[in-house]
Amino acid sequence: LSRMACQRLSPESARDLLNNVDNFMFDCDGVLWSGPKLIPGSLETIVKLKKIGKKIFYVTNNSSSSRRMYVEKCNKLGFPATEDDIVCTSYTAALYLKSINFKGKIYLVGNPAIAEELDKFGFQYIGLGPDRASDGASNYFNPALLDTQLDPEVNCVLVGFDIHLSYYKMMKAATYARRKDCIFIATNEDSHLPCDGDIVIPGTGSIVAACKIPARREPIIVGKPSTYGFTPLQKLHNLDPSRTLMVGDQCSTDIAFGRKCGLRTLLVFTGVLSMSDLEQLKQSTDQQTHEMLPEFCTSSLVDLMDLSKK
Ligand code: PLP
Ligand code: CA
Repeated sequence: LSRMACQRLSPESARDLLNNVDNFMFDCDGVLWSGPKLIPGSLETIVKLKKIGKKIFYVTNNSSSSRRMYVEKCNKLGFPATEDDIVCTSYTAALYLKSINFKGKIYLVGNPAIAEELDKFGFQYIGLGPDRASDGASNYFNPALLDTQLDPEVNCVLVGFDIHLSYYKMMKAATYARRKDCIFIATNEDSHLPCDGDIVIPGTGSIVAACKIPARREPIIVGKPSTYGFTPLQKLHNLDPSRTLMVGDQCSTDIAFGRKCGLRTLLVFTGVLSMSDLEQLKQSTDQQTHEMLPEFCTSSLVDLMDLSKK
């Protein structure tokens, strides 16, 4: 990277970004909103960017909504969005399977949003909802139950956010993933969901870990920091990476994704990382950590517009 890494966004650099970037790509949770709450000024900033002719895109690791659900949420809040502007991992997973011309049956550790995207592509899947084997189960597992329930046609395991994760689901996912030629993919590996209070909310990465540890293999991750999500947007909208900015709240997912795709990058501190977290990452001597440092950082998305006027 020829540009100096990790500069605090200044009036000059904000103007430089507004002049030299056509496409603004946003992580959602921690940048635009925080759970159900809007991050102050995010909506106004995006509306202004749109007004001055910038293209707006959303790239989220969340697999618990489909593109249709994201359009609904965005439009309800006032964010400009169509399905073509959104990449969520429920969609990226289906798109990945299409790209490898997948034929067969999927064991889904997931949710209705992933099912909706799989349906759009006509993929066959089983496993949605609570696992039958858990109904009235004793405190000890019964392997006989599994024997009768394993489907010989399953040749793909797809793991995403699943509120119904259970011991039986872990067993099934791992058993299928051990099969010869079984494809093993996961939406994302975020360890936690962001949360204001003291509650710890396990993220999809925790669910993926519960399946990949017994499977003794690594899944293909389609979400950030993998670059799979960029390709459909780039193709559809003919994006020039050097005139595209990725704005995120996490280095290991958003910024690493942006840098791998050749985008310009901006880290904001309205989500999971703070200024002192970033300082700590900067001290690291590890090459991989350096490759996830942003070009710019600033406290909030609103600075992009506000600083440019100073
Ligand atoms: N995965 C799930 C299931 C979530 O609910 C969220 C945030 O709400 C995320 C991932 C993180 O999403 P993003 O990539 O937009 O920060
Ligand atoms: Ca985020």
